[in-house]
Amino acid sequence: MRWQRLQLVDGPEAPAALFGADAIADTVDSPEFAGLTFYVIHAKSIINRVPAESRVPFRYTVNPYRGCSHACTYCFARKTHEYLNLGTGADFDSKVIVKANAGRLLRRELAKPSWRGEAIAMGTNVDCYQRAEGRYRLMPAIIEALRDAANPFSILTKGTLILRDLELLRQAASVTQVSTAVSVSMNNLPLWRSIEPGTPRPGARLAVCEKLNAAGIECSVLLAPILPFLTDSPEQLRTMVSACADAGATAVTPIVLHLRSGAREWFLKWLWREYPGLVADYQLLYSGGSYADKEYQAHVSGMVNDLAAEYGIPQRVHRPQPPPRPEPEVEIPQPTLF
Ligand code: SF4
Repeated sequence: MRWQRLQLVDGPEAPAALFGADAIADTVDSPEFAGLTFYVIHAKSIINRVPAESRVPFRYTVNPYRGCSHACTYCFARKTHEYLNLGTGADFDSKVIVKANAGRLLRRELAKPSWRGEAIAMGTNVDCYQRAEGRYRLMPAIIEALRDAANPFSILTKGTLILRDLELLRQAASVTQVSTAVSVSMNNLPLWRSIEPGTPRPGARLAVCEKLNAAGIECSVLLAPILPFLTDSPEQLRTMVSACADAGATAVTPIVLHLRSGAREWFLKWLWREYPGLVADYQLLYSGGSYADKEYQAHVSGMVNDLAAEYGIPQRVHRPQPPPRPEPEVEIPQPTLF
């Protein structure tokens, strides 16, 4: 393990410029954390308000990390690393900001008289149960704070580590509304390894869903992102929805791939490398911008909704939902970014 003041190890464009002398770079000499650098900071605030114009069904989020070692090629949160003067590609996957005081800060913010006890969503801009969580264990203190304040919350994850906190989740669910969701959209293992290289296997995520529901913690599946021409065939969708039903998913929400700036460049580079024959089809389907053609989205969502009905899974969302916009979280000092 190596801890060093950031100023000693990074240049003027590195996170040290953002976080000051209190930021520490932590590289760990263990295969579990190979290739990762954690930048440990003390955040100034932790509850983020989602911009009013956003169409997502939550108004507040908590993100204990920035960057994500799950390294999904298509991740729309990649753009957030630009706010830190870091790259949206490999930097996003390997340079992770750790808000070491997240739990303490959240407890303080929840206790403010101005806080109205609104639901808090986690896992919307970063995966709280990525590899860093195994080392820094920020989530237990966060869940404890929410439990003690009886504040409703939700967690979306691809990480199996959430099961470590099952007992805490159960305690929280006994005093407030707690919902969880796992994100999984394919059962093609070579494709999974290539496009979500840092994530647990799809089957392991569905097993998480099953265990959470068995423990009385509501868990649904975000069938996302559905990749045009790669994971959208009727057979593939049927296999996935059937597996969601077997896992006891409380709902299945389909979301077709979004290609926002930041993710788009990284994803297209991957597509050129792995599936060059599909590039022209993608260019056509996404010629309108970040979203796939509307008719295509409606068609795919319709197929998933029909399958969910066939397998007896309730549908919470009846129309395609966009993911949230990347949040330039206000608690982190911004240099010359805007
Ligand atoms: S797990 Fe979520 S936040 Fe992490 S890289 Fe994948 S899509 Fe992005």
